[in-house]
Amino acid sequence: MIPAGFDYEVAESVEHAIELLGNGEDTKLLAGGHSLLPAMKLRLARPALLVDVGRLNDLAYVKEEGETIAIGALTRHKDVASSPELREHCAIVSYTAGHVGDPQVRHRGTIGGSLAHGDPASDLPSVILALHGELVARGPGGDRAIPAGEFFTGVWQTALAPHEVLVEIRVPKLGAAGWSYTKMARRAQDWATVAVAAVVHGNGSVERAAVALTNMGATTLRATAVEKALVGGASIDDAAALAADGTEPPTDHMASSDFRKHLARVLTRRALEEASRRSGRRARGG
Ligand SMILES: Cc1cc2nc3c(=O)[nH]c(=O)nc-3n(C[C@H](O)[C@H](O)[C@H](O)COP(=O)(O)OP(=O)(O)OC[C@H]3O[C@@H](n4cnc5c(N)ncnc54)[C@H](O)[C@@H]3O)c2cc1C
Repeated sequence: MIPAGFDYEVAESVEHAIELLGNGEDTKLLAGGHSLLPAMKLRLARPALLVDVGRLNDLAYVKEEGETIAIGALTRHKDVASSPELREHCAIVSYTAGHVGDPQVRHRGTIGGSLAHGDPASDLPSVILALHGELVARGPGGDRAIPAGEFFTGVWQTALAPHEVLVEIRVPKLGAAGWSYTKMARRAQDWATVAVAAVVHGNGSVERAAVALTNMGATTLRATAVEKALVGGASIDDAAALAADGTEPPTDHMASSDFRKHLARVLTRRALEEASRRSGRRARGG
């Protein structure tokens, strides 16, 4: 449980962090440290240099930009959870951030660290995927926006280049759309055994739907068969029955692969029911 030796630098700005990263080989950014430090203690990660970006307060914000909400990558989970802008316009993000780990984790962990870590068991990747969010990476050549659908590439792997810093996450305002993040965990405040993020547009008939699954494969996954069935007029029960189609969830200490498939179907039905209740309420002005 003791990490391998490493050097440590504190970044004074994003540009300084990029400079310290160099080509990114053997170097890691440190944000809240709640995923990286455990990995280093287990020697699953052995960076030669840690670049601490945890004090870059100008990357800790939530602000409205037209039809979008922009979230700074260094925003802590507790600040995402309590953000008035998110609670009003994109409550699936604030709700989910409020269900990440326990209060200590939420006071240190950041939304950017959670996404950049690329853990398929993390909660926020599925939410950002279901929202068709965008992730803004900054490197020596400037900024580039990466659609959430292209960001998560494997277990602990993302489309971020080793010399890039994730600076911002953009999500749409949801208007009257219904939403749900439905999580099953073995213990309170634990990682999801399986969870489902659902966003449903339309009142009565479904015009658009996005469903993303946590811990059902190497990355967060879209349940596209469910989405197509809903838009084609299928009932929630019939659509949810397709939730595990095409997935190959892992077997581990929390659950077998088959049990995860069962959970995906049950939780998708519950998530869609909750999303459709919320969408009906908002359409009635509730
Ligand atoms: C006890 C415990 C329980 C937890 N429970 C949950 C849970 O229920 N659900 C859940 O989703 N998560 C859970 N987590 C994980 C937690 O949410 C972490 O805070 C989060 O995954 C990582 O965020 P961080 O800021 O701590 O990142 P760090 O650990 O500092 O970094 C993680 C990775 O992201 C990289 N990184 C960080 N910031 C950036 C950036 N701006 N740009 C580029 N790369 C960056 C780092 O280099 C590193 O590779 C738990 C953690 C603990 C310790």
